[in-house]
Formats: sequence, C-alpha cells, structure tokens
Amino acid sequence: MAMQDDIGKRCFVESVADDIETGRLRRDHVITGDLKIPSLPTVYRSTAFRSALEASWAATLDSLGIVWEYEPETVTLPSGVRYLPDFRLPEIGAWLEVKGDGVPRVEKAIEFGKSLACDCPRFGCTCRWAGGELVLIGHPPQPFRPDYSDEYDHRPYWAKQIAGRNHGGHPRWTSTRRTSAWLGHCPACQKATWFDSPHCRACRHRLIGAHGLESGNTEIRFIRITGAALPKDDAGEEDPTPAA
Ligand SMILES: [Zn+2]
Ligand SMILES: [Zn+2]
Repeated sequence: MAMQDDIGKRCFVESVADDIETGRLRRDHVITGDLKIPSLPTVYRSTAFRSALEASWAATLDSLGIVWEYEPETVTLPSGVRYLPDFRLPEIGAWLEVKGDGVPRVEKAIEFGKSLACDCPRFGCTCRWAGGELVLIGHPPQPFRPDYSDEYDHRPYWAKQIAGRNHGGHPRWTSTRRTSAWLGHCPACQKATWFDSPHCRACRHRLIGAHGLESGNTEIRFIRITGAALPKDDAGEEDPTPAA
C-alpha cells in the first residue's frame, strides 16, 4: 500500500506485516450488501479496517498527531437505531465517520452529532468539549469550493476567497452541526484539532477574534493536507449495521 508509506513513521517490518495481512483479508473478504463496488479491507498498524479509505484516514490522523480509536463502541441513537461510528478521537472530544463518494448515507452520523451537541450559547459554553462532542463526516479528498457551498451563498467575495484559501487542498469533511469546522494547530497547546467554536477542542484555549474563524482569526495555523488517495476500486464504506 504505497499510499500509506509516505505518511507517518512506520517501520518497514510493520508495513510488510500489514501488507501480508491485507492480502489475506482481501482473499477471504465476502462482499455483503448490494454495493456495486466493494470496499477493500486494509490492515494498517495491525488494525484491520473495512476499507482502504478508513485506513488512509487513520494514517492521516497519525500524521496530524491526533489519537484515534477504530470502531470503539456501538451506540444506540435517540431513535433507537444502533450505530457503529468509525473513529473516536478521544483527545479532542470528536468522532469521525468515513464516507465514500456517491450518495453517502449520513443520517445516523447526523443524528449522533445532534445527540452529542450541547445547548450552551456559542460564546458561553462551559462544557469539557466546546459545543459538546463533535461528529465529523470524512469524504474522499477534494478541494473546498466556497462558490458552490450553500453556507457561503450570501458571503462577500473576499470572505469566499479567504475561506477557499484556508480550506484549499484539504480532505473534505462536514460537521454534522452544519457549521464550518477548520483543521489547524492550536496556538496554546500546539495540538492539531478541528475548530468549530471559539475554543480549542483539546485545551479549551479561547481563541482571539474567533467570531468568524475564517475571517478574523490569525492565531490558528491552518493545516493543509491532501489526504491519502482513495484506490479507484474501493467504495470507501461498507455500512456495518450492527445486529439489534
Ligand atoms: Zn456547552
Ligand atoms: Zn489547544
């Protein structure tokens, strides 16, 4: 898996062991559901992922120094539906649901995000995780185009320019809160995190001028990453609907 080798500091032996295990998993993989393109099970750092896209997100998170846990627990949503999120990011109070191209089914992730959000006013949140825990949806990499984003419909030209520059070349993600989330390094704790409120998710540092993160804030060092490429023959997802 050449896509992983340029990310992180993996030793050669570990990488070979992962490749051997990946080959074994793919030989034995039984395609379930009605997906036209099956996803490719992939082993990365001895963890078996359901798809190459998920493994590439794990490598991307490693390159950012963001601690992750893969499929840590099945949760029961308020509607009674059971849901198995892809990643928990315990040090920044966030979750990441990985989705392939096409028409991703994101209803469960959105319901999960709503159930974890707090009701505090935006600038008066006192929760451990600013705004409550955050659920992000990770899509395959593509440049951010504010011109085509509903959220930027009524923003002035210069605001779109700045937003496009800050987002340019990122893997795509969507906050299930329908607000922007910005990936950057916190000026106080130096950790990489998504910012979607005036506070750092890791250390709660209150950002200066964070009323509009994309326009007023010069504190955050925005991170540009291209993410690992999605293999053409990988659907990126296979809904692991847990048994009720
Ligand atoms: Zn709160
Ligand atoms: Zn911080």
